[in-house]
Order: sequence, then structure tokens, then C-alpha cells
Amino acid sequence: MRLVIKYGGATISAGRDIQKVARHLGELSKKNQIVVVCSATNKTTDELLEISEYIRREDKKKAEQLAMKIIKRHKQIARQTIKKPDVHKKLLARLDEDFAELLAIIDGMVLLGEVTSRTMDYLVSFGERLSVKLVSAAISDSGRRSSPLTGKEVGIVTDSNFGESKPLMDTTRLRVSKTVDALFLKKTVPVVGGFAGADQHGHVTTFGRGGSDYSATIIGSCIKADEIWLMSDVDGLMTADPKIVKNAKLLNEVSYLEAIEMALFGVKQIHPRTFEPLLTKRIPIKIRSSVNTKNEGTLVSASSVRDTVKCVSSVRDNGLVDVRGGSMVGTPGTAAKIFATLAKAGINVMMISQNPSESSITIVVKNVDLDKAVGSLEMELLGKIIKKIEVTTNVAIIALIGSGMRGTVGVASRVFGAVEKKKVNVSMITQGSSELNLAFIVKNSDMNSAVRALHDEFALDEIN
Ligand code: ASP
Ligand code: MG
Repeated sequence: MRLVIKYGGATISAGRDIQKVARHLGELSKKNQIVVVCSATNKTTDELLEISEYIRREDKKKAEQLAMKIIKRHKQIARQTIKKPDVHKKLLARLDEDFAELLAIIDGMVLLGEVTSRTMDYLVSFGERLSVKLVSAAISDSGRRSSPLTGKEVGIVTDSNFGESKPLMDTTRLRVSKTVDALFLKKTVPVVGGFAGADQHGHVTTFGRGGSDYSATIIGSCIKADEIWLMSDVDGLMTADPKIVKNAKLLNEVSYLEAIEMALFGVKQIHPRTFEPLLTKRIPIKIRSSVNTKNEGTLVSASSVRDTVKCVSSVRDNGLVDVRGGSMVGTPGTAAKIFATLAKAGINVMMISQNPSESSITIVVKNVDLDKAVGSLEMELLGKIIKKIEVTTNVAIIALIGSGMRGTVGVASRVFGAVEKKKVNVSMITQGSSELNLAFIVKNSDMNSAVRALHDEFALDEIN
């Protein structure tokens, strides 16, 4: 089989874990052609972003200190991981080149005194540049040929939308398949850095946080992979957060569309565009654990069993903004103005609802974005199209996901009946017309009991 296997940061951040990954890959590569895709090691991307903050504040010392911390950590992981002295030496030489470049970039950015989205992408792409070298060296150490490559080197070409780029698939397909085929011919396992590619001018671009999943499916679609595996420290997609529901179950199978909904809300965060390259190619994805390799995980494919409800997801710590009055009723463009204002302030809106009388629009954003959201609406629109803004903090979103809800009568009544029995108040409800996802808002403090009640109501512990 042709496989693309992607490892999340948590699975490749300690010597012993990387060795385990290398052994597993060694086993698998006897019978399969494998492209490995890696995230950055734990915390590295966050720290690179923090470095950019220090640069912005012209604090060169702090920026360099943090860079040194990253450098030290990677050297330590290298020491823990690699046994053969020659492999270790070669790895250190390769890492040293990156370390020198990293410090030079920081220097340059400080000198210029500006952080642009382009320099930022270049800076944050270093996490994956380092991690692929560790993993590739570990594979070599275990006796198989392997080459580390960045997203740019493997041939991922994107638009120039730095920080949130999209692949140009036709060019990418040609380049990636050529690079990978050449390595396969030489019986070499390519280990590719996720998250980043380069635009047509060769400037490094990234896909946004969590983008390594997306890299894996882009590459999978280019090389016509038979399967794509996303390896992490969880066993797969679950019927609920096991920290909330003790008898939460691993889901054996979900559809792409269900997985997209779950990716936005679930415990296992997946980049929202991950499934895009597969919708036409229909390549199955498995979400698996890098530790429990015997466990098949969750299969995500074009079709799947149509259970009414497959999972109850929940996200706490959000805020509800209720916007009322003024000339909202019957005025086209009101919603556009509200959302344009929020977008300009860089706020991600998680849920929206408007009643048919058009007298109010309710919006859910993260608690941390709440001040900025309300501030920008007050400044730009209050007293004009808006009369009143009401805010509720500390609310939770609960979402039921399952393609079988479509056209099934009585789901909503079961949902709200079960919640009512727990005396939980529901303050907002949305359902997309696809009926894949029914979401509502409760108080943070009511979240756990509502999730448990729904898990019981739909007998999710007996799913599969
Ligand atoms: N390293 C990047 C991030 O932390 C990409 C990824 O992990 O998928 O967002
Ligand atoms: Mg990740």
C-alpha cells in the first residue's frame, strides 16, 4: 500500500517516543511505500510565535534566549534518540545549519524592526524543519534509508496568503509526485515537514495552526495514497470527551462530513481543511494512536454507518453577544456590517443565530475574544444600526454530530427533553440545514451534566 503517515507533535517530542515511531515505520516500510509527515515537537511552534512577539517589542535578548531554549531542547532530543555515533554527528551538523539560520533570521527581523506575515511564516516554519531531521535520523539509525524534506522541498506550492495559504494543487501534484517517486525508487523514506509550503516566488508559507494534518492530505492526494494515517496521542475520535463521560467510546467509523464537524469541536483538534483534498479522491483516513499501534483507530471515509447521533462535543469558555435593535429589522446588509466589523478585529465567530423578526442577532465567540468583539461593535456600530449589546460570559457550546440526524423526526425533542430533565437552561440553538450538527449553548457549569445526559439519551456507549 501507499501510505502517508502523519505524526503530531506530542508523539515525537521525546527520544524514546521517536525511537518507537522509527521502529513502527521500519516494520511498515517492509511492505508499504510510506511518506512520513511531521508536526513540530511540543511547544516549539508556540515558542516561535512568542519569539515574534519579543521581536515586535524589540526585545532581542528575550527572543534569543527563547531560541536558545529551542536549540538546546532539540539537541537533547537528538542525543536521547540516536544511538549510532555517525548518524548522530550528521544529524547535529544538519541541525546546526538550521540553528544558525534561525538566529540569523531573528537578528535580521530585529534589525528591520518589523514582523510581517511573510517573515513570520518563515520563522514559524522552523519547528517542522527541526522535527523532520530528528525523525528521519531515527529511521536511518534503525537501518533504513530516509531523507528529511521541508514542505517547500517536497514541492508543495501555495498562494501567497501568508499565515493561511492554500495549495495550488496542479503544480503541487506534479512536483510532489516527482520528488516522492524518485525517493521511493531509491528505497528512501521521505520525512516531510507539515504546516508549510512555499509560494510561486519560493517564499515560505504556512497553512495556519494545526496545518500538518492538511499537509498530509495534500501529499496523500498528490501521490494517490491508499490511506492516510493521522497519528497522535489519542486513540481516535470519541463519542464524547472521556474526561467528562467515563464510558465514552472510540468511534470505529465516521464520514468526511462528520469528521469535519468533529474537527471543529472535538477533543482531537484537526485542521479544518484537512478533508478538502480527499472529498473528490475519496482516500480513507485513519485517526490512530502512535502508542497503541494495534488499535485501528477511527476510519474516516466517504461513506459510513448512519447512526442518528455519533458524538456529543463540547467547548467551554465562550461568550454570547446579543445585538439588538436600531434599524436592524428589514435592512439588508446589517448582518454583513456586523460580521465585517468582527472580521476586521480578527475575531472568529463560532456560532450565529438570527430570529426571523430580525430584531436581534446572537453571536458566540471565545471568552478571550469577547472584549475585543464588544469593543469593536460599540465603536463602529452602536447608536447607528445597533441599539443595544448584551453580553453573557462563560458559556459552553454543546454540539451533537451525526449524519443520520438528517430527516430523522424527533431528534431535537429528544435532545432538549434530556437536557430539560437535568434542569439545564438552553440559551441559543443552531442547526445547519445539512442537519449534520445540532448545537446549543448552556452555562459553563451545566456543560458536563448536559453532555452526560445526551450521551445516555442516545446510548452512545453502545455505538459501533
Ligand atoms: N506545528 C504547527 C502548529 O503547532 C502545525 C501542526 O502542529 O500541525 O500549529
Ligand atoms: Mg498539531
